[in-house]
Amino acid sequence: TAERERLAQAIEDVRAKLGQERPPIVGGRAIAPREWLESRNPADPAQVLGRWGVATIADADQAVAAAQKAWPQWRRTPVAERAGMLDRAADLMEARRSELTALIILEAGKPWPEADADVSEAVDFCRFYAAEMRRIDAPVLTQRVAGERNTTTWTARGVGVAIAPWNFPLAILTGLTVAPLVGGNAVIMKPAEQTTLIAGVCYDILREAGVPAEVLHFLPGRGEEIGAHLVAHPQISFVAFTGSRAVGTAIWEAAGRTLPGQTQLKKVVCEMGGKNALIIDDDADLDEAIPGALYSAFGFSGQKCSALSRLIVLDGIYDTFVERFVAACGSLQIGDPTDPGTLVGPVIDEEAQRKIRGCIDTGRGEARLAYQGTAPAHGWFIGPTVFTEVRPDHRIAQDEVFGPVVAILRARDLDEAIAWANGTDYALTAGLFSRRPSALRRAAAELEAGNIYLNRAITGAIVERQPFGGYRMSGGGTKAGGRGYLENFLVPRLVSENVLRRG
Ligand code: NAD
Repeated sequence: TAERERLAQAIEDVRAKLGQERPPIVGGRAIAPREWLESRNPADPAQVLGRWGVATIADADQAVAAAQKAWPQWRRTPVAERAGMLDRAADLMEARRSELTALIILEAGKPWPEADADVSEAVDFCRFYAAEMRRIDAPVLTQRVAGERNTTTWTARGVGVAIAPWNFPLAILTGLTVAPLVGGNAVIMKPAEQTTLIAGVCYDILREAGVPAEVLHFLPGRGEEIGAHLVAHPQISFVAFTGSRAVGTAIWEAAGRTLPGQTQLKKVVCEMGGKNALIIDDDADLDEAIPGALYSAFGFSGQKCSALSRLIVLDGIYDTFVERFVAACGSLQIGDPTDPGTLVGPVIDEEAQRKIRGCIDTGRGEARLAYQGTAPAHGWFIGPTVFTEVRPDHRIAQDEVFGPVVAILRARDLDEAIAWANGTDYALTAGLFSRRPSALRRAAAELEAGNIYLNRAITGAIVERQPFGGYRMSGGGTKAGGRGYLENFLVPRLVSENVLRRG
């Protein structure tokens, strides 16, 4: 209750400060924008939370030039200092946890427990990448040979851009920003349009933690304008991106072209969508599988790259499972994300609502609509939706919906279930509920996904404990929050010294 009161107070405090403005910031100076856009509360779109200034291409060019000038000095700053800044940022985020959580609830429509988890993940990213950078900093001896010393050290790549999605408005933006930053790179933050206010607080916190103005720039703006411009910019060395498949593949292509004036190949780190499947074996414990599946599919209205969107149920248990799953859907709490009991809040904006409704219409034409929950009429809500008798080649079983929609497929046996689970372009998360050790072993070995969950809800991941990221059309196989991730933003240099020739 004390926490609930603290949060209620924080929401009031954020509401009391509504109408604030977030301009782009280059080199620590706010830029007067030519155009302002509004940020609205998805649960109550009449409520304007604030305005943000749209950065222009000229602003982006100015940021790149400033960052280019500043990063060599930043690279020379001792790792202990740079890592210390990340630890300080983590402390500041902890200290402002209620405020950050409240802002995520209001701007992203994320229900309270998940908004709080978003803050925790951001804190964890700062602390983990700080610790990782300290570890990487020591030169590594590659091979000992008499008279010769060979060591590998890592150095920064240069100036890059962090392009973030809205669905983890604090955590992912923080992770994409601080990982390259702590390695000695300069970073231009390009937050998602929908969650620019929370991104602005992230920028403030990093600056307050000591990150110099010249190596961190804040450029809210349209993805297809300044996002695309920065990706193609000849003086950008790397792109750290998380978002949709369409944008990720466009970035991959654009960053692969070399332009006049470009002196290096760009490194692209791309994390994209999923079409995540959970297999329910004949002998699965449904008392665990059903609540797990409900949470995975409908938490935050299914707007997580890791969200469950296909349930592949073995024939022997299909009817029982569907009956119990659909009945359980009736108990989902839908509505106001500030209410601590809410699991299904609004979707992010009107465009998302329209797109998800379109997917539901397609599903209706293909399969059987077994459940559709009622959602508040005011606000950008979609009721939880379940399709049954779905075939693996249906669009509803192939396309990422990114909403509270789940497709249930009936599989003959585990072979078929695994083949169907693997039968999309994506490979992000997947899972199995079963009591058979042999089935669990097969799932671990054969499910094509970056993160696999056995007898537990499919969910996102915990920094360091469960490094996260997919492959195929879900991403480049990198693991956010894992060992080795920082190396994406660093270049290895091998120094071979003849240690016999001294003096
Ligand atoms: P999005 O791709 O629409 O936008 C992401 C970012 O890219 C935004 O900042 C946007 O402004 C920018 N952008 C848009 N067009 C661009 C262009 N042409 N060039 C450069 N930048 C451009 O994605 P979204 O709607 O914000 O996020 C949802 C998507 O993100 C889903 O597909 C989800 O699965 C995925 N996602 C993946 C992970 C993961 O770890 N794999 C995590 C979270 C979200």
